[in-house]
Amino acid sequence: YDQLAAITAPQCPTTSARPGSQYVPTASDLDAALAAGHIIPFYQPKLSVSTRAITGVEVLARWRHPDHGLVGPDYFIPLAEKEGLIERLTDQIIDQSLVQGRIWLDQGRPLKLALNLSALSLRHLDLPEDLLRRVEGRGLSPEQIVLEITESALASDFSASLDILTRLRMRRFALSIDDFGTGYSSLKQLQHGPFTELKIDQSFIAKALEEEGSLAIVESSVQLGRRMGLKVVAEGIETEQQMDLIRHLGCDEAQGYLLGRPVAANDFPR
Ligand code: C2E
Ligand code: CA
Ligand code: CA
Ligand code: CA
Repeated sequence: YDQLAAITAPQCPTTSARPGSQYVPTASDLDAALAAGHIIPFYQPKLSVSTRAITGVEVLARWRHPDHGLVGPDYFIPLAEKEGLIERLTDQIIDQSLVQGRIWLDQGRPLKLALNLSALSLRHLDLPEDLLRRVEGRGLSPEQIVLEITESALASDFSASLDILTRLRMRRFALSIDDFGTGYSSLKQLQHGPFTELKIDQSFIAKALEEEGSLAIVESSVQLGRRMGLKVVAEGIETEQQMDLIRHLGCDEAQGYLLGRPVAANDFPR
């Protein structure tokens, strides 16, 4: 449902996909789309809770499909992972967003770029060096990059991922633990992982004002993150009430439809 809400956002003038559209892409469709450059980054702002200044953007993959409109990542990321296309996809998204990041920087907007990494990427020993080379090759520095990694991505082989994470951190990339609270070994991962940011999952934010249990999870996640010296980000902020709540609880940054939907670079707010 999130997906459909995102792809039918009125701020996305290119959207033609409708909720309920039955497009099920195949591996060869996706392969062709990658070759044609139809997989592109969208950008959603991350804002400071206290000032509402835009501090960064999360890069979210979209498939600009000639027949099916704008297709969201839930329809093709799992396919890409299964069919061995995720590396190419990730490379393309990263390259395009680094180019855009450099354009913003040249315009005097040093926006941090938050990139989503697949669990599979965390198994590549050369990821840290590779990424550093690309980032510097585009005239950016690793301090400007936040790597968002979901708890479930870490769960599959935590000790191997931990090694990669440590090397990424040594190269000064910021590391965010995404969808916090939805994995099963969050506390261990948080304690031992070299994270710099904790991103509270939107499912808890969505229910926090109606349900005591979700509120308790949001509140204790914020406290935990702060005690561990992490930047705490709330995602899925859709109302001013939710914004008030996370400000009151002490979140540093916020992201959500209230503050800005994912859009193409050209439509990004000035
Ligand atoms: P995520 O990293 O947890 O991203 C947040 C999702 O929530 C995005 O969905 C975003 O559009 C949506 N969202 C943002 N604000 C709101 C809000 O206020 N309300 C609601 N209901 N939803 C909101 P999206 O773009 O469909 O992405 C879905 C997932 O696909 C992402 O979840 C991420 O795990 C994955 N993904 C996206 N791009 C990439 C990519 O380039 N590489 C990889 N490996 N995964 C990606
Ligand atoms: Ca994310
Ligand atoms: Ca998330
Ligand atoms: Ca998610």
